Amino acid sequence: MRKIVLAGNWKMFKTQAESEDFLKGFLPTLEDTPFGREVILCVPFTDLNVISRNLHGSRIQLGAQNVHWADNGAYTGEISGEMLTEVGVRYVIIGHSERRQYFGETDETVNLRLRAAQRHGLTPILCVGETKQQRDAGEAEALISKQIKEDLVDIDQSNLIIAYEPIWAIGTGDTCEAKEANHIIGNIRSQLTNPDVPIQYGGSVKPNNIDEIMAQPEIDGVLVGGASLEPESFARIVNYQ
Ligand code: PEP
Repeated sequence: MRKIVLAGNWKMFKTQAESEDFLKGFLPTLEDTPFGREVILCVPFTDLNVISRNLHGSRIQLGAQNVHWADNGAYTGEISGEMLTEVGVRYVIIGHSERRQYFGETDETVNLRLRAAQRHGLTPILCVGETKQQRDAGEAEALISKQIKEDLVDIDQSNLIIAYEPIWAIGTGDTCEAKEANHIIGNIRSQLTNPDVPIQYGGSVKPNNIDEIMAQPEIDGVLVGGASLEPESFARIVNYQ
């Protein structure tokens, strides 16, 4: 049985004070959220502690946005699995297109980070997806297959979430057609050894398109950037019809 996973990615937004304000608005809205939906907030490192302390037994799970492959060492600016689990982190985004594009992540480093996450008992949310140029050239499916193949070498598929995030749809307001996303996610699933891996869609998910996206049979949830920053819009997404 595939789990439904609704995750917010705050990227580099929100101070600790702003995180607390968000929770004050968001926590009460979870009273209407049907059981069986996993709700995750992937927040900046400096917000992890404050969110962890203010969850008050709520069903929100804590997520980070990256983890290093080494357990510790001279890796300035990085963070280890143990540092994350110590503050209550359960999930971690790995291979987000912004990491691949601006910080030189490759399928090899993504694979190393996935292994480290699992070694520390974290559930990775692996992001894959194509650029507009690759899509227009008809290369999307081959590119995604390559990412899946190389990123998942020796990865335990019983502790994994995948997010299909077409890069041209991230932060642009330009959503991938729900049916097209459903088709690509079906293709991703056909490459997995575990058909129960939850596969999310990500890319300009908003209150006005969430119901259609979640009606697709292959789509098990969403990874949400911009619309996860406001309690009202993320609540509407988490409480989709
Ligand atoms: C993301 O950051 O993963 C994302 C999908 O962003 P947005 O929802 O803003 O497009």
